Amino acid sequence: MAPPIDVSRFEQLKASGDLPSPKGVALAVMRLTQQDDVSINELANVIKADPAFVGRLVKAANGIIGYGRRPVASVHDALTVLGMPAVRNMALGFSLLTHYRTGACENFDYGRYWAASLLSAVAMQSIALRTRAAAPDETYCLGLLARVGEIALATLYPHDYSRVVKESAGLDISRRLELESRAFAMTNAELGAAMLGDWGLPRVFTDAAYCVAAGTESQHSESSREFVVTQSLALSHQLGDYCLAHEHERPRCKHRLMIAASRLSFDEESTATLSNGVAREWLEWGALLSIHAEKLPPFEQIKADAPAEATAPAAEEGEAEDAPTRALVVEANTESCTEMVRALRDAGFHTSSAHDGFSAAELALDFLPDLMIIGGHLPDMPSSDLIRIIRRTRIGRLIYLFYASDQLHDDVVVAALEAGADDTLQKPVNMRILKAKIGVSRRISALHREIEQDREEIRHFAAELAVSNRRLQEAAMTDSLTGFPNRRYFNEHFAQEWSVALRGKRPLSSVVVDIDLFKNINDTYGHDVGDAVLVQVSQALKGALRNQDFLARLGGDEFVVVCPDTPLEAARVCANRLHAAVSNLTISTRQLNLKVSVSCGVACRDASMTDADSLFKRADDSLYLAKQRGRNGVAAIQIDTDKGGQHHVA
Ligand code: GH3
Ligand code: MG
Repeated sequence: MAPPIDVSRFEQLKASGDLPSPKGVALAVMRLTQQDDVSINELANVIKADPAFVGRLVKAANGIIGYGRRPVASVHDALTVLGMPAVRNMALGFSLLTHYRTGACENFDYGRYWAASLLSAVAMQSIALRTRAAAPDETYCLGLLARVGEIALATLYPHDYSRVVKESAGLDISRRLELESRAFAMTNAELGAAMLGDWGLPRVFTDAAYCVAAGTESQHSESSREFVVTQSLALSHQLGDYCLAHEHERPRCKHRLMIAASRLSFDEESTATLSNGVAREWLEWGALLSIHAEKLPPFEQIKADAPAEATAPAAEEGEAEDAPTRALVVEANTESCTEMVRALRDAGFHTSSAHDGFSAAELALDFLPDLMIIGGHLPDMPSSDLIRIIRRTRIGRLIYLFYASDQLHDDVVVAALEAGADDTLQKPVNMRILKAKIGVSRRISALHREIEQDREEIRHFAAELAVSNRRLQEAAMTDSLTGFPNRRYFNEHFAQEWSVALRGKRPLSSVVVDIDLFKNINDTYGHDVGDAVLVQVSQALKGALRNQDFLARLGGDEFVVVCPDTPLEAARVCANRLHAAVSNLTISTRQLNLKVSVSCGVACRDASMTDADSLFKRADDSLYLAKQRGRNGVAAIQIDTDKGGQHHVA
């Protein structure tokens, strides 16, 4: 299960607007599909505004209909075949692909990232057609989006993540995540799972994405849907590695791929069919999405080879920090330009020059100078405009800027300084004065660097602090005996679920579970046997729940379950399942085999309730009733508001 990311941190990131997010038509599609009563026609009209998306949808729909059926050719038919959740997630996936195809994170290989994501998408679709563990079109989206945590870190922290990417080359997943945790107080696995959850992908998908990104095993049994989806995603990643590998690495990748396939009981022949099919589809989709794809030799022709022990590359020597600084001279007069360039070179600068404002602005972004001298009388713009343009850019704020003119009267000096120059130079430039002023600029630049280093250090402290805070928060929210959420966590979670249900006008149920005559166990066998009973009962309860249900220990021998989107009848079924799971349980501890029973109180949100507390109170009253009726059973009190608040008891 994906550990909860620090909620307030995630909300902060979301609020900052810096997290990758759907845009344009995709945003409209996502908003529209959140409404209950949206029609296919309305959705089709929005989608038609984006011809590229139409093409992709139609291709996706044709990919999942059976052979021999009439191919899908219209948006409307594609929507009918795919269904709203798939369309919504595809819009999301394609939108991210369009808008986050490149970025500022230097060592992050955007091209490979998207090629791998596309391969994973295509592979997931083909695997799901075989395993039937989830709808193939939805798994396509999971494949495309599963690694979104990586692109999110590259977008949020281009500089730091670039360093982490470089440092983690050749390391195994856990070491890589350790580096991420240290740098950002979160890992790409956690952030990705939180984002997918936030976008409404089902839990089984977000958990699978987390497990694969974190390199952990699925906690579910091998026959479960959760296990199959997680293994499918792991296999789809191996397939991606295989397809993107250099020729000489491919035999090793094939070996790993075969192991992943065998975990889903794929034999060699079906793995070959799968791989060849994925390689073919990759070419088609690659052309449609303008993503790198290449023709591969048939799978059967590659010899599988066991990988040698992986070795981490030796750490590289730190790069020389004190590279000579760069200076850019912008001067229309060639002679004066050459003279200043020479003086700067003598002072140890790398130099570059431009003769007009426009090329100077372009060059500045490319050359990233530490110092600039801007002369007056540029042919294409007033020098003060160029100074303003430079200052408006992010890198331009740190450049030490001289304005040089042959007429430095007061008004000109004031105008230059007001536009953003740091200092002025009288032309023709006196070289002694220029060198002295360069000394000043170096001192200021050194101060800037120190400030930057301090800021970096503060960021690291903040990250470390965030990590400790998160650990503390987790500890404060977890029951130490059973490892399940405690009452505090429950209170927060329940209040959130209440708001979601209220906003969406959806049902919400709760079941309170209490062990019968638990005191007797403590009294007869001792407190440690009592503890073992609590642990094993809590595990049996968890095992009887659906993925979306939430279990917490309230304290003592009392547990609570929150069932989102569940009407009373379904909650009663759930409570009966919980009750049966405990009745069927034999608790083994200290060579004892004990049987226990529980009583369950069920309640569902209705119009008479004002808040989450009132729903809990009703479930608690129901529990009291179950105890009164002689324990070992389930009770549900329902108030019929239509009939003047009559109690119904079941
Ligand atoms: P009932 O069927 O009415 O619920 O009877 P009961 O005996 O279970 O009564 P109750 O629920 O009030 O008993 C709770 C007991 O749980 C009382 C307390 O000593 C014990 N208890 C509370 N916390 C712990 C714990 O962490 N470990 C153990 N072993 N016992 C605990
Ligand atoms: Mg009890």
